[in-house]
Amino acid sequence: MALIVQKYGGSSVGTLDRIRNVAARIKRVLDEGNQVVAVVSAMGGVTDRLLGMANELNANAPERELDVLLSSGEQQSIALLAMALQAMGVDAVSATGRQAGIQTVGSHTRGRIDEIDPSLLKGYLAEGKVVIVAGFQGVTKEGMIHTLGRGGSDLSAIAVAASLDADVCQILTDVDGVYTCDPRIVLNARKLPEISYDEMLEMASSGTKVMQSRSVEFAKKYGVVFEVCSSLNDNPGTLVTEEHPAMEAVVIRGVSIERSQARVTITDIPDTPGQSGKILGCLADAEINVDMIVSNISSDGMARHSFTMHTNDLGRAQAALKPVLGELSSDAKIETEAALAKLSTVGIGMRSHSGVAAKMFQALGKAGINIGMITTSEIKISVTVSESQIEDAARVVHEAFELDKKPLA
Ligand code: ADP
Ligand code: ASP
Ligand code: MG
Repeated sequence: MALIVQKYGGSSVGTLDRIRNVAARIKRVLDEGNQVVAVVSAMGGVTDRLLGMANELNANAPERELDVLLSSGEQQSIALLAMALQAMGVDAVSATGRQAGIQTVGSHTRGRIDEIDPSLLKGYLAEGKVVIVAGFQGVTKEGMIHTLGRGGSDLSAIAVAASLDADVCQILTDVDGVYTCDPRIVLNARKLPEISYDEMLEMASSGTKVMQSRSVEFAKKYGVVFEVCSSLNDNPGTLVTEEHPAMEAVVIRGVSIERSQARVTITDIPDTPGQSGKILGCLADAEINVDMIVSNISSDGMARHSFTMHTNDLGRAQAALKPVLGELSSDAKIETEAALAKLSTVGIGMRSHSGVAAKMFQALGKAGINIGMITTSEIKISVTVSESQIEDAARVVHEAFELDKKPLA
């Protein structure tokens, strides 16, 4: 008998029929002699609808109340799924984040899982029950509800699997695995049989939303091997696991895109110590997440700093930077550009293959796509391009690396 933790995302429980389908899948796994804990998201679209209502009432909705509101979406779906299972004769019980012992720390709307006390879950399992756990939520020591950031049910599932020392953790979604690029955009993208934690992490944090990036970090830290597969069919999925030597043979594992990016450039900054700290410090104080950072010195010896952020943060960033400009120099100026997107190629094979950046940039150049900023890590190359060209850019780069054709290690 195996203990299987399954996570069903919003699209997998988006309608009552889909909930019945999930219940039938869980029943099948039980009938094969396994124990199941299912972690469930809110029905597709519900979290966005709740957020929309909150924004209509209050453009600055307090985060404490957002957590109370948004966590209700998952509470609906766990009760509905438990009812559907019971209607099929399965002994199922729901558990909110608090009941599942998920304790969080950090701030409202972006809580971090600190600890899980799985005793109630274990008790239910010992009684032969299936437990349906609300994803995306936990409670602080003081009893405050936290949500875990968008897509946070992935994290709930990985953490529950770790705390129960589950035999298998499956992330069931509306695609049957992790593809070389979003299959909605690159139609000939290929499903990857496996991917390393680091590659999945880089892809997730550069826009591949099939997994929430913090959940991959957590899985790597606690060694939770998990599989991404479909809730609608039984196709083999993608295994996310420790890297092994054969994986390096593949230069690029996948291509990610992230839309709604904006660039801020500050020019005419004296090239002296402490300036970058001043700029980034004031953005950090304003709780603005900066993504790519590029700086250089022009021929007149003055420095310029560019960084990207989500377009929604651009106005706040400009407001936060204004008072600092005068402190940098009397000539310092801000330039901004919105409607950008980021394209990233990811692969651990980059470490041992040269010419990867050249190939990527040449392919984009040949297609007439202008590159803005460039940043690299050991296993990722990211560029900004105009948002209107991002889908073409993804296809061109995908093709240049023959990701549609290559047998994938
Ligand atoms: P869920 O509701 O199950 O959490 P998500 O919408 O969060 O599902 O994630 C699944 C979606 O991720 C897919 O529908 C797909 O369009 C998108 N996606 C983006 N990049 C990829 C990729 N490289 N491989 C697979 N899916 C991807
Ligand atoms: N319902 C939450 C969201 O839409 C959490 C999740 O789906 O994982 O972000
Ligand atoms: Mg998701």
